[in-house]
Amino acid sequence: MMNIPFGDAKRQYDAMREELDAAMREVFESGWFILGEQTRRFEEEFAQFCGATYAVGVASGTEAIRLALLASGITAGDEVITVSNTCVPTVAAISAIDAIPVFADIDEQTFTMDPTQLEARISPKTRAIIPVHLYGQCTDMIPLLEIARAHKLLIIEDCAQAHGAMYHGRMAGTMGDAAAFSFYPSKNLGAFGDAGMVITNQEQIARNAKLLRNYGQEMRYIHRIKGYNSRIDELQAAVLHVKLPHLNAWNARRREIALQYHAAFESRGIRCPLEAVGREHVYHLYVLRVPQRDRFQVLLHTKGIQSLIHYPVPVHWQEAYAECRSQGACLPVTERGASEILSIPIFPELTDAEIEYIIQTVIETYEDVS
Ligand SMILES: *Cc1c(COP(=O)(O)O)cnc(C)c1O
Repeated sequence: MMNIPFGDAKRQYDAMREELDAAMREVFESGWFILGEQTRRFEEEFAQFCGATYAVGVASGTEAIRLALLASGITAGDEVITVSNTCVPTVAAISAIDAIPVFADIDEQTFTMDPTQLEARISPKTRAIIPVHLYGQCTDMIPLLEIARAHKLLIIEDCAQAHGAMYHGRMAGTMGDAAAFSFYPSKNLGAFGDAGMVITNQEQIARNAKLLRNYGQEMRYIHRIKGYNSRIDELQAAVLHVKLPHLNAWNARRREIALQYHAAFESRGIRCPLEAVGREHVYHLYVLRVPQRDRFQVLLHTKGIQSLIHYPVPVHWQEAYAECRSQGACLPVTERGASEILSIPIFPELTDAEIEYIIQTVIETYEDVS
């Protein structure tokens, strides 16, 4: 029996140890740890990778969403439409500025925001939409952009799971007014701690985000607005600079593994994730939908395969968001999906033998529970 973890940051470190150690040592020896040359260079490289004009390094993905909202002029009492089947931080960033999260249901096939459910959730207080490019696949942005334009709403893309994902030739994060990325260690591009990035083509948003992350400070001791301390570390920027050139190859490897899974599972009737036409999925997660999910998961674990659920409890069911619970009536697809989804390991360093073991074991377990 094999033992396969859900993710393994150590394998990636081992493969690039010398380069990473040298980059970190360079920071230690420079004696400069906050907002310096490493940050400036990585911001420039990441903006270029995405095809955006501006990139602003911040403390985390959650902070990237929060600062992007604030930098775009969203304030307390504004309604922001997003989805309920997301990582809680998407919504935490909205509530952190006392804006009001409103949930639109998701599309049955892609698990991303269903644009046809959007218009009914718009009120006179709605100011912005946060589509979450969940699991590594872009939301259907063309209809969404049209609705946003018609109602004069801002779009902040949550790209925490979608570094390098494409939508009809456009890069995730470049379709809305601004976008937020997370470099949490397990993301497709991960730091050695917390880090995040706001990208935008709008100078005003970039300028505001830069002020907000650094106590509202324009130059030393001159504070133009009330701000925060929410900066990316030089150390994380140095690590991410080393890793960024590998991102395309890592995403390609994830896609290759997904293709193997798909080919093996689909013919057995196992419900695989769908890559919608015109979208290039980067498979941050590979999410199956299985009957008797909880039993399925226990069986997989006894056979040495770690799996996770993204996410077992939609945000509107969380105790912290009890005030949102009544919105569940509008979210039938979200509620149904939460009991079926299961994420199996997909990361670039999986070996071919491990992939084969996962395929055989998932098929065998599926037959057991069916
Ligand atoms: C990881 C994640 C975040 C939050 O990022 P942090 O860097 O952990 O703050 C936000 N949204 C989604 C969809 C995520 O997956």
